[in-house]
Amino acid sequence: MDSRPRETDAPGDPANGAAPPLAAAVTAATGDVEIIRPRNDKRGYRRVVLPNSLECLLISDPDTDKAAASMNVSVGYFCDPDGLEGLAHFLEHMLFYASEKYPEEDSYSKYIAEHGGSTNAFTSSEHTNFYFDVNSDSLHDALDRFAQFFIKPLMSPDATLREIKAVDSENQKNLLSDPWRMSQLQKHLCAENHPYHKFSTGNWNTLEVKAKEKGLDTRLELIKFYDSHYSANLMQLVVYGKDSLDNLQNLVENKFCDIRDVGRKPFSFPGHPCTPEHLQVLVKAVPIKQGHTLRILFPITPNIRCYKEGPCKYISHLIGHEGEGSLFYVLKKLGWAMSLEAGEGDWSHDFSFFCVVIQLTDVGQEHMEDTLGLLFRYIKLLQNSGTPKWIFDELQAICETGFHYRDKSPPINYVVNISSNMQIFPPKDWLIASSVPSKFSPDAIQNVLNELTPETVRIFWESKKFEGKTKLAEPWYGTSYSVEVVPPSIIQKWVGKAPEEDLHLPKRNIFIPSDLSLRSVEEKVSFPAMLRKTQFSRLWYKPDTMFFTPKAYIKMDFHCPLSQSSPESAVLTDVFTRLLMDYLNDYAYDAQVAGLYYVVKPNDTGFQVTMVGFNDKMRTLLETVIGKIAEFEVKADRFSVIKG
Ligand SMILES: [Zn+2]
Repeated sequence: MDSRPRETDAPGDPANGAAPPLAAAVTAATGDVEIIRPRNDKRGYRRVVLPNSLECLLISDPDTDKAAASMNVSVGYFCDPDGLEGLAHFLEHMLFYASEKYPEEDSYSKYIAEHGGSTNAFTSSEHTNFYFDVNSDSLHDALDRFAQFFIKPLMSPDATLREIKAVDSENQKNLLSDPWRMSQLQKHLCAENHPYHKFSTGNWNTLEVKAKEKGLDTRLELIKFYDSHYSANLMQLVVYGKDSLDNLQNLVENKFCDIRDVGRKPFSFPGHPCTPEHLQVLVKAVPIKQGHTLRILFPITPNIRCYKEGPCKYISHLIGHEGEGSLFYVLKKLGWAMSLEAGEGDWSHDFSFFCVVIQLTDVGQEHMEDTLGLLFRYIKLLQNSGTPKWIFDELQAICETGFHYRDKSPPINYVVNISSNMQIFPPKDWLIASSVPSKFSPDAIQNVLNELTPETVRIFWESKKFEGKTKLAEPWYGTSYSVEVVPPSIIQKWVGKAPEEDLHLPKRNIFIPSDLSLRSVEEKVSFPAMLRKTQFSRLWYKPDTMFFTPKAYIKMDFHCPLSQSSPESAVLTDVFTRLLMDYLNDYAYDAQVAGLYYVVKPNDTGFQVTMVGFNDKMRTLLETVIGKIAEFEVKADRFSVIKG
């Protein structure tokens, strides 16, 4: 079961990204609070607090085939006792075994598997999350087994030893995983007295060998940890089912009322993992896999303290931008980078890091200093740009449409997201969380921008090229690395000698939808109707009578009898569509950020243009694509690239 490192937000991903302000937020009455929810969401929501202080969110979805539940416990590996690394994660495993009510081992997992579902759990720095999905008519019995995790689990000595081995084999697997290795290296190069420094998963050595040497009984420590930390007031439950809210409420009250509430105070971990000695460093590390990665980290004020202002979203939208004039655009043109992501990385209420992750090409690997020079030049540009409001407005519009019109996610993913949010956000924001910045604050943005400095940077550079050239080894995963100090004067030198490239803010995005109204449909239409028929074209239309979102889908078939008449013409048709896609590439990023997607490809009778996304600006995109088709001309330089 995962104890996974937190991932950096992918820039430009509309799900966590950015767009136009919509009308007043839609809210749902849920007992004493109103929960902001997507405007096309027909599901029922109810917040319930049981007498034992367990906070629950019930979601009723008559259309669902799968039911799901997730329990978030606000305790993670930051709470591991010193010298017993991995105890919180180990406990997560042990709860799956058996309970007093269901003493047969694995009866929970077996029941779920036999009823069309799956189970999992993960342990993070400050929380542990248990979850499952199951056929919707089996929710009652599944929940009864699940609730026993938190009421009366059995942690037999026999199972304890076997499960330590399971934790150890999970760790063995992680030893070969670069994300785990690099995450731990970042933790290792931090203050030893901060819990961020800890090894989260545990292994045979920490949970068995070293525990014994210290005279500790791991099983007794486990029970102690469970008894003192697993208190109902630190838990958040989400249950998703087909039943009515009243029925779900009865069910949850019955099954979960016996969880003990010991009134445990929420944990907090003040202080920052980085002291000055952990900054201004360049760490060269040897990964398991081929490839070169540059990770640039800056300690920043946690975004959670001002998530309505969303400074990190604003900054990652720009640093992670891929349009003309962006950092990635320039690095790609130089042939140095394959991808670039920017966003908030590991964070808590007390500390946070802003991360920029660049996958370098072999050539880019030789230009690390120039790449960093360009990054710092772009950051300077942002610091001096005066945070234009129109960029925030675009971002807000993108985020709002992303939240209000996203497709339904599988119930199991949905419940895990929400139960995790419940620990962090007030009830009204349980669904929306920090996904939509709504208050424009130039100061909040400027404050974080001013934290991205050469004085506080941490650079992690991974490449096989460093093999044999490093002297140190990270203790838990054995990653080879070296550390050099990089004073700000060196970085200024890199900024000075980086190539003169035209870095600038993005231009306005013409594809962001502003009209999200729905066209009313009078009657149910089963078949597409022909709207137009001429000598050259036919046009069919079918209104959506099922999903009710302001989205459209266009498919245009171009019949070209000669396109597949010989091997040569088939190849030419293929090259033609590739060239078209290539010419349209300048629009691709803006369109995608705004939730519009298109593709041009050959088919049996010619070629086909497909478009999907928000209806409002689809016409702009369609006209752009058709325009390119009409004025098609072969440019020699691009032709030779495509041909190759
Ligand atoms: Zn695990």
